[in-house]
Amino acid sequence: MNNTFEKVCILGLGLIGGSIGLAIKRSNISNQITGYARSNSTLERAIELGLVDSVKDNLKDAVNNSDLVILATPLSTFRELVEDMSPFLKKGCIITDTGSAKLTVIEDLKDILPNGVEFVPGHPIAGTEESGPDAGFAELFDNRWCILTPTEDNSSNAVDLVKDFWESIGSKVEIMDPMHHDKVLAITSHIPHLIAFNIVGTANNLANVTEKEVVKYSAGGFRDFTRIAASDPKMWSDIFTYNSDAVLEMLDLFSNDLAKLKAAVIKKDSDLLFSNFEKTREVRKNIIDAGQEESDVDFGRKKSEE
Ligand code: NAD
Repeated sequence: MNNTFEKVCILGLGLIGGSIGLAIKRSNISNQITGYARSNSTLERAIELGLVDSVKDNLKDAVNNSDLVILATPLSTFRELVEDMSPFLKKGCIITDTGSAKLTVIEDLKDILPNGVEFVPGHPIAGTEESGPDAGFAELFDNRWCILTPTEDNSSNAVDLVKDFWESIGSKVEIMDPMHHDKVLAITSHIPHLIAFNIVGTANNLANVTEKEVVKYSAGGFRDFTRIAASDPKMWSDIFTYNSDAVLEMLDLFSNDLAKLKAAVIKKDSDLLFSNFEKTREVRKNIIDAGQEESDVDFGRKKSEE
């Protein structure tokens, strides 16, 4: 048993926080897991589901004597949570997070960390469209990447400890520059979600004209978009505000390419369209060949990258 973190405190007991609690229990890597959330109903449900060993309704008691504190709440809550819990953190405590954007979070927290406490930024690339405590499951991180984006303020010891932690609960760990992380996630996750939110919104407006046709004929492509567009609105509005620079940069590239496709449609340039679609088909094949697809449907639940 690797008891590196005797006591772990998880702030936020939804899909990610709840899954972390269950995965720690499964791996038996900590003696005490405490959870904190805003509402009593979440705290009660977390105990019923056995997500953590105990829950606290205030930050002081929650983080008391913790070796590792994990931020698993929406991005926009991190700064206030760290400010509020700082007086109660013990020296040597490590804070890590699960947030889907990294540069802004690092910037938000860098001036408010108490002496003797390190923040090691992290982001598990695993998720589903579900949220809340009932969505958590122990296998969520199995064989999925967790990206750590340490800064020059981090000690290699703290980074190693957080890396070991994620590996102990099933993840593969990659170390990445925070700006690079934000760009990679903008193109692989954030822009695809923005497209899904947009197309479902457009179709919904259209539905007023075409009445029930959008629902009636929503096979294949559109149905997949509705699954993604059903993701948690708070989490995603935070992601687009926290990763706006990288999202806008990738959105420009995307818009240029879309304009080229539009021009090909206008010109009825079937050869150009064909060669474009042939290339994108190759991308899909490469992903499958690299074994990135099969773990998406494990455990009877649809896993996604975010
Ligand atoms: P979730 O909505 O399932 O859970 C968030 C929990 O935080 C909820 O229980 C909510 O009540 C609680 N909460 C909100 N504000 C709070 C506050 N101020 N204090 C205490 N608790 C508060 O969301 P999630 O999917 O678990 O996402 C959590 C974090 O993980 C986010 O930062 C998100 O960017 C990141 N993330 C999500 C996914 C995903 O696919 N859902 C994947 C990777 C990372």
